[in-house]
Amino acid sequence: MEILPGIHTLPSVKWSRAYLIEGDTLALVDAGLPWSARNILKYIRKIGREPEELSHLLVTHAHPDHIGSASSVAKKTGARVIAHRADTKRRGNGASLNYMGVFGSLPVPLPFFERTPVATLVDEGDVLPIAGGIRVIHTPGHTPGSVCFLEEGTGSLFSGDTIFSDGERVSRSVPFPGYDAEAYRTSLARLAALDFDAICGGHGAPLKSGGAGKLQELLDARPELPTWRQFFRSIPRRIKKSQSMTGEEI
Ligand SMILES: [Zn+2]
Ligand SMILES: [Zn+2]
Repeated sequence: MEILPGIHTLPSVKWSRAYLIEGDTLALVDAGLPWSARNILKYIRKIGREPEELSHLLVTHAHPDHIGSASSVAKKTGARVIAHRADTKRRGNGASLNYMGVFGSLPVPLPFFERTPVATLVDEGDVLPIAGGIRVIHTPGHTPGSVCFLEEGTGSLFSGDTIFSDGERVSRSVPFPGYDAEAYRTSLARLAALDFDAICGGHGAPLKSGGAGKLQELLDARPELPTWRQFFRSIPRRIKKSQSMTGEEI
């Protein structure tokens, strides 16, 4: 579904969100759980494009719900996988996606833990030649190599699990293993100082405008980072209101 000019969400990718950026070529932001590849390719054909046009696969971070199909999509399309070094592991002359040392390290090849070679390691300030320029913002915290991708032309921020939205408001992630609270706090403050409009987060519904302001409002109103304790306490209320279970309560 095209949610903003040239930006699609992939309706068949469940649980987490993957986005397709349409320009001269195509770029995918994250690749969902394993077994999503077929549906991603199907969607590309549905909008009248070819899977071979997918030139880049941008990885916001190496959690399994975001990279489960990355290797398969890259193999089927020839897309270059782009990620930050801190969510990868060196392998010979190259690097592959890595979270807490588990990916590609298990003795049995499970699809969930398939090794994904990274073609390009990116860092803060790099600008990728996609859709008029996509800037890399290194936002460690959720994972060491979490990055946000800012499409400068439209002011759309692909925020991975660094910020979520329900389509109206924004929220933050609860801590997972590998989380660094101080780094996360600093990354959120840096993001709030940037100029962006839409937030295309790794879960929930995209927020179409006013993103930076809404993030600042959240940081002003609730300066303390969310905890699991709050998360578990909020579950009954959220079930009652049919609200999302990703991130803090909003
Ligand atoms: Zn994550
Ligand atoms: Zn996630």
